[in-house]
Amino acid sequence: MNRLLESAAERALRYLEGVDARPVAPDADATARLGELSEPLPQGPTDPEEVLELLDTRCSPATMAMAGPRFFGFVIGGSLPVTLGANWLAGAWDQNTALYRVTPATAQVEQVALSWLLDLFGLPPESGGAFVTGATVANLSALAAGRHAVYTRIGWDIEGDGMVGAPPVTVIVGAEAHPSVFKALGLLGLGRNRVVRVPVDGQGRMRAELLPDISGPTIVCVQAGNVNTGAFDPFEEACARAHEAGAWVHVDGAFGLWAAAAPERAELVRGMEAADSWATDAHKWMNVPYDSGLAFVRDRDALRSAMALTAEYLPTETDQRNPADYTPELSRRARGVEVWAALKALGRDGVADLVGRTCRHARAFAGGLADAGYEILSDVVLNQVLVSFGDATVTEKVIADIQRDGTCWCGGTVWQGRTAMRISVSSWATTEEDVQVSLEAMLRCAARHRTPR
Ligand SMILES: *Cc1c(COP(=O)(O)O)cnc(C)c1O
Repeated sequence: MNRLLESAAERALRYLEGVDARPVAPDADATARLGELSEPLPQGPTDPEEVLELLDTRCSPATMAMAGPRFFGFVIGGSLPVTLGANWLAGAWDQNTALYRVTPATAQVEQVALSWLLDLFGLPPESGGAFVTGATVANLSALAAGRHAVYTRIGWDIEGDGMVGAPPVTVIVGAEAHPSVFKALGLLGLGRNRVVRVPVDGQGRMRAELLPDISGPTIVCVQAGNVNTGAFDPFEEACARAHEAGAWVHVDGAFGLWAAAAPERAELVRGMEAADSWATDAHKWMNVPYDSGLAFVRDRDALRSAMALTAEYLPTETDQRNPADYTPELSRRARGVEVWAALKALGRDGVADLVGRTCRHARAFAGGLADAGYEILSDVVLNQVLVSFGDATVTEKVIADIQRDGTCWCGGTVWQGRTAMRISVSSWATTEEDVQVSLEAMLRCAARHRTPR
């Protein structure tokens, strides 16, 4: 066993040592060789070392270098080394972190991480929290708590009697809400299409003055960090309007919530602490391994009522916090360990520095591209940049060239009718030098397609 696990660690280290020097996207040959993995289910055993070797030789070269410093494709970051180490250790422990009495160590670490997160984000310290797979499930969990609360207020037992025949609930979202919010609403029986969409401004911010009159059971979803522009909805106004009418306010802050951890960005999240629930990711800006999402709910009992279960065979009785009382999952890995490790290693100042640094890198990208004459399509308020290299065809060609060039990796989007390249800077590993070499690669590729004015 020792030799096998040492071999895995050696392979992982070799991979990480090389991740900076290789092209960010896997090359076509490596991707084509993945076909060799498609074989019938083997009848007999394979030597475990050979299993690892197959994974390493077939898959390592065909990975996207998301662990490296120059992947700017999504808002996802890498893994801080201490969190990867914590992940390995927690993997060895193999704790099914559902119930305190069965797995006290990892349940306790999760409880500590939760209280630190509430402190870091400036959220009510009595809030309940769920460590889930990602912001999609964090949105689902928080909205399940909201659904419980608004139905309880009108005397309907939503968990018991379900949505069939239930009085309708109004759901209001900004027109730029992330697709995962609609997915969560669909899973909850609230419907992807029944929502009322509030128009947004040129940055993608909900225009709170256009919120409809609210009456009856209502959930309002606002956003901290638009996936394209990084923009924030006007929380103060939205929360005031919603709460006046007794509505539940949910904040999707998959990455934007982390702005609350950086004093110089705090203005962006002003008023968001007045909401009822919040969703974010640790696997994005906090740079822990996937999968790691977080839901926070001011009314802890609403979340628990939506999620908790009991069974004769489960020792759920405790005066401590049972992690699974707050999550859709019962069996679950100890993802709180990595969050705890990141917060312990960085401290409040370290998190602020990570957020501030990546935002400065985004500004440097925007500045360099604008200086070269390319159009930045939105205000750079956070770690997101949207750039146009010309018309849609030209911009698409430049993006394809940048991806092929391999220095860095960015993807495309269409922002309010304009085709654009997205740059998301979220990794702990990105340095000023990475920004410079990536910027040079972008300008090199863009110059090839420059249309004379
Ligand atoms: C990434 C993202 C999500 C979805 O998060 P997952 O972790 O991929 O499930 C939801 N909302 C916003 C704003 C996001 O950026």
